[in-house]
Parts: sequence; structure tokens; C-alpha cells
Amino acid sequence: MQFKRSLQLFERAQQSIPGGVNSPVRAFKSVDSHPLFIHKGKGSKIYDVDGNEYIDYVGSWGPLILGHCHEKVISAVEEALHSGTSFGAPTEKEIILAEMIKEAVPSIEMMRLVNSGGEATMGAIRVARGYTRRDKIIKFEGCYHGSIDSLLVQAGSGATTLGKPDSEGVPQAFIDLTLLARYNDLESVAELIDGHPQEIAAIIVEPVPGNMGMILPEHGFLQGLRRLCDREGIVLIFDEVMSGFRVDYGGVQALLSIQPDLTTFGKVIGGGFPVGGYGGRQDIMLQVAPVGPVYQAGTLSGNPIAVTAGIATLSLLKEERVYAELGQKSAWLVNETKSLFEKAGIPLQGNQMGGMFGFFFSETPVRHYQDALETDVNRFKIFFKQMLMQGIYIAPSAFETFFVSTAHTAEDLEKTAKAIEQALPHL
Ligand SMILES: *Cc1c(COP(=O)(O)O)cnc(C)c1O
Repeated sequence: MQFKRSLQLFERAQQSIPGGVNSPVRAFKSVDSHPLFIHKGKGSKIYDVDGNEYIDYVGSWGPLILGHCHEKVISAVEEALHSGTSFGAPTEKEIILAEMIKEAVPSIEMMRLVNSGGEATMGAIRVARGYTRRDKIIKFEGCYHGSIDSLLVQAGSGATTLGKPDSEGVPQAFIDLTLLARYNDLESVAELIDGHPQEIAAIIVEPVPGNMGMILPEHGFLQGLRRLCDREGIVLIFDEVMSGFRVDYGGVQALLSIQPDLTTFGKVIGGGFPVGGYGGRQDIMLQVAPVGPVYQAGTLSGNPIAVTAGIATLSLLKEERVYAELGQKSAWLVNETKSLFEKAGIPLQGNQMGGMFGFFFSETPVRHYQDALETDVNRFKIFFKQMLMQGIYIAPSAFETFFVSTAHTAEDLEKTAKAIEQALPHL
């Protein structure tokens, strides 16, 4: 396998784009490597500019749950293109996508579409603050909610990977309003609430974190957050940008039967195009302009092409009842991997829910960010390279999640397991 053309493009990219990439994790820095420039994707596979083929477990970081270039999504988009790409005026399709999300996710009474997951969390936080007239928020160490000022504190994945949990350029005043709790530790949340009575507007959480590696909520944790929020008049925000329409059609909240007050979406709901959304309780969402006093806007929000891809994607997910199948694929790979590692005597933890799964190189289960940081990142680097060289494309960081799509075949999965087996002696 050679990467000549990727290396040339990387060289060129760095002359005009900081670090040669438009989002830091793409640079492959945390695996001491260089980015691959992708030429095309089809189904479960991607192809780089040097002609190397990979089975793709990144899926554009989650959106491509139907695989690359799904025919029905592409043809819907092609047709939509001929009617115009943007109007800055409402279209019927925006209502359809909002209605589909409402129907799928029981806690959503109203929603607003935006252009990215980060924009969605920004909107949700602002409306929670407007609604409660409080300024402080609680987030969890290692949870990532997009590249927005008040949430870039101990934000997992990209930020962790670079060894810079916080970002320069974020005012201290913003950080002071963001209180940090520990995932799977209700006591840490209760202490913050007690220390700041009547000051907390919202608790924002990835109900199943996927940005510090993948971690599962312990029994009672999310329910406990719900109770604390009810008691204190705090808005509970589930950030389901990754998990929404990924673990199940209705997200984590449908699977576990917990209703947050607000939910944020992104990734899958755009079917590979830039779409995000936030929504939830009607009384809260009616605070949003133009009906309410909380301003939030976007020139391309609800873009007709992006929304078309979202509708096509959700329609297929709904019709084809894909989640059982995605769950089986992920579970098979996790179990296979666990037993291969066990045979080799190398410690491994594996977590899975629906179409997402993840591993930690660790003797003990990983419950929160601190645990994740203590796992064997160097071993991951070796694992990553071994997989890549065998044509298996996984996220270039020990703190990311794997995604399967409906396009992944049994043959893909078996080939992946084989590659893992081959990688083991090098670990
Ligand atoms: C990806 C992600 C975001 C940010 O979405 P963008 O579209 O990259 O802005 C927010 N929250 C979670 C949980 C995510 O996984």
C-alpha cells in the first residue's frame, strides 16, 4: 500500500488550510500519521486518491448509516437539485423532516433545523438559558457537543487527542459558566447543583457518549439526571447528534424510555449533508424567535437539498427496520474481537448499542473520561496502523466510535475480523 498522491495533496493543502484539514481529527495526528485524501465511496467502501480500497467504519463520523452513495438518497437529491438549491424561504420539505423526527422521537413536540450538530447544541443551550433565565450549564468530562465556546471544556475526542482539552480563544468568562461533572456519577452532578442553587439552566449530556470512545450509561444514571432536573427546574438536554437514528430510530431516549426536555440532532438526519436540529418541549421551543425572545437564525438552515437527503435517509431507516440488523452486525464484530483478544491474552473492553460500537485497550471497564484516559493509547496507534494497512478504515483516535452501515456485508465483517486477528501479534 502506498500513499504518494495523498502525501502530495497533504503537502499542498497545508499551504492554504491550517494543518491541511478542515476539521482537526482528520489530520491523523493522534496516530502519528498523515491524512488520506479520499477520492470516492460506494456502499461500505471508500477509495483514496492512490487507489487503495478500505472497508469504512467511520461513515463520515456517523451520518452514512446507509453506506456511501445509496441510490435512493442520490436520486432524491439529484431530483431536488433541479428545483433550486436554496431560497432562504420556507419549503414543505422542512416540515416533512421535522414531522418525521417528531414522530420518531417521543420527547419532540417542536423543532428547529440548523446546519450542524454544533449549531444545534448552541441553539439548545441558548433556549435553555432564555427559558430558565439562568446562565450556568453542567456538562460531562469527555462529552463533545461541537466546536462552540461554552462547550469546549474537557470535550473529548478531537480536543483530547491533541492533548488540549480546552481551546485557546475561549474566554474564561464562558468557561466559568460551564460546570464539569463526571459521567456515570450522579453524586458529582448533585454536588454541582447544591453548590450553585437556582443557577443552572441546563444539563447537557451525550446519553451514550461516543466522543471519549464509546461508553454505556450505567443503570439509573440517565434516570437520575431526569429526577435531578425535575427537582431543580433544570432543562435536561440529550445530545443525540451521534446516537439519534443511530442506536435506534428514536435514539437512546426511545430505547431506554427517558424523556429529556430538549434533544439535539445532526449526522444521520442529514444523510451526509449539513443538517442539525434541536427540539423538545413546546413551552421551551416557543421561546425561540420569531415567536419568542431567544434569537437563533441561519441563511441556509433547512436547506432544501440537505433536507431532501435527510428525508430520504430517514424514510429508508423507517421502512427497512434496519436497527436489528445493524445491532447484529456490531455485536458480531465486538464479540468476535473480544474473543480474539482473549485468546491472545490482550486486555480489551468492547461496548455496543445499535449501529455504534467501540473498544478500549483496558483491563477494566471504562465508566467515564478519567477511565478512558488511562487506557493504552499507544497500543491503539499500532492497532490503527495495522488495520489501515489491511484496508480497514477506522477512526484515527483511541477516543472515537465505530459505525456500521446497512451496506456492510457479512464478507466485510469477516474480512475485518481476519484483519484484527492478523494485527494481534503486533500489539
Ligand atoms: C459530532 C457531534 C457534535 C457536533 O456536530 P457537528 O455537525 O460536527 O457540529 C455534537 N455532539 C455530538 C454528540 C457529536 O457526536
